[in-house]
Amino acid sequence: MGSGSASWVQKARYPQRVAPSQTDTEQPAQTRTPTRGAESANSAPRTSAATAAKTTSSVSQAASAATAGVPRSIQRAPESAPRTAVVGAGVVGLLTAWQLRLAGHAVTILDPAPGSEASHAAAGMLAPIGEVQYGQQQLWDLMTAARAEYPPLFQTLAAATAEPTGYRDTPSYLVAADPGDKDAVADLVSVQQAQGMTVEPLTGSRLRRAEPALAPGLAKAWEVPSDHQVNPRQLIRCVNAALTAELDPSSFATPGPRASWLHSAVTAIETTDDDAGSPQVTITTGEGPHTFDSVVISPGLGYTEIRGIPQEHPVPLRPVHGDVIRLRVREEQLAPGEGHLISATIRARVAGRPVYLVPRAPEDPLEPRGLVIGASSREDGLAGTHTGSVQELLEDAAAVLPAVRESELVEITTRARPGTPDDRPYLGEVSPGVVVSTGYHRHGILLAPLAARLAAALVTGTQLSQNDTEYLEAMRLGR
Ligand SMILES: Cc1cc2nc3c(=O)[nH]c(=O)nc-3n(C[C@H](O)[C@H](O)[C@H](O)COP(=O)(O)OP(=O)(O)OC[C@H]3O[C@@H](n4cnc5c(N)ncnc54)[C@H](O)[C@@H]3O)c2cc1C
Repeated sequence: MGSGSASWVQKARYPQRVAPSQTDTEQPAQTRTPTRGAESANSAPRTSAATAAKTTSSVSQAASAATAGVPRSIQRAPESAPRTAVVGAGVVGLLTAWQLRLAGHAVTILDPAPGSEASHAAAGMLAPIGEVQYGQQQLWDLMTAARAEYPPLFQTLAAATAEPTGYRDTPSYLVAADPGDKDAVADLVSVQQAQGMTVEPLTGSRLRRAEPALAPGLAKAWEVPSDHQVNPRQLIRCVNAALTAELDPSSFATPGPRASWLHSAVTAIETTDDDAGSPQVTITTGEGPHTFDSVVISPGLGYTEIRGIPQEHPVPLRPVHGDVIRLRVREEQLAPGEGHLISATIRARVAGRPVYLVPRAPEDPLEPRGLVIGASSREDGLAGTHTGSVQELLEDAAAVLPAVRESELVEITTRARPGTPDDRPYLGEVSPGVVVSTGYHRHGILLAPLAARLAAALVTGTQLSQNDTEYLEAMRLGR
């Protein structure tokens, strides 16, 4: 089976980059039944960001070539460029840094282990339709808007770097394994269709033609043509390359200088005014204080560890752990001419449990012929990998795609989503020059381009459209 169309395939160059590792910390017990599927809407007590689990066989990071040997003193920008710090280099922080560079800011990114948390685990489904849950209209509006931000984002990245983005425009299939699952999936499909979303039923024969490796006898399937995917690890590489690229003046009018990096955890933030009455932000790290004109605080769950953030409203974050399995399809499993076992992302329900299988392209630079299987959703206090969840994921994946059993097991990764009570993130200016952007929960890869553009607009004081104002209202702190 082919790899599907792939506008993401570009000439590649892959510098060797290795990020520093981070130490695991034990998580206070907060026991809930491990679940998969819809996130709990209940708020849980705050838990240390450092509890985000790191159970993975490899952490290949993209940032360090740019950051290796970063001096203690921050690279000074040209006099005219406002100096903005971005705290946290997950997908959200990095894309925000990119938008700020495009807006002419001199950006410094602070992170002890760039790209190593939730963004490292994520499958990267860009699935505003497949992710629809009952009663989440505002979140769905955000997801739909964010999906539309990807093409213009890719244009800017392609103008800056030849590094591929990791995007694939192959569709998603919603699959019900047995008759009970069929009723549940059909209910959700009717909600999606009532909202005008394109979700098309697939006959058994069409499904078999499209994906012959799927198990025979699956109860029912639907196609969502517009739910695509991006490999978040590759996207991070691409954005890092853009952040440090020499930008061609014919493509970029007034970009900021190359981004600077500090491989250090931020412990505190203090806001003051300078002699002229302009806001100044002092950021404390293990290496000492650094001063900026503004800051975007986007450390995912790490938010709860930073002192001094102006806090009119609490930001109730909780870790929602997910276990993700990464397989590689062996060449021996494929017929001549086939690139993968499946071409579409399969979002299945098996005996009441959701499981997804996300096929990476045969030529994916980081995960060639990869198959990402996930994801559990646990609030049981276990920061490490949950054995039962992995077993269920593999069983359910094999029930849908039996050849999973013959594939190579490459990696099992556990990380925590920065969960919020209503599944919506928190994005807003909390004092002059201080923008908070966190809580992207289970949709942060999808939401990141919208989040990045809006956070940059708040920093730069860009006029907001009516739609943007509404998106910010949906993400307002203290809502
Ligand atoms: C198992 C799993 C599967 C997922 N699948 C999908 C999916 O298919 N599609 C989707 O859209 N979303 C998915 N998500 C959700 C998505 O991964 C997150 O919402 C998103 O990655 C959040 O990005 P972020 O940049 O806000 O945070 P993170 O990626 O967690 O990055 C935060 C960064 O901040 C740094 N940091 C923390 N504390 C500090 C500090 N004090 N100082 C400086 N830096 C700090 C960390 O080192 C880290 O690099 C998934 C998540 C998980 C866990």
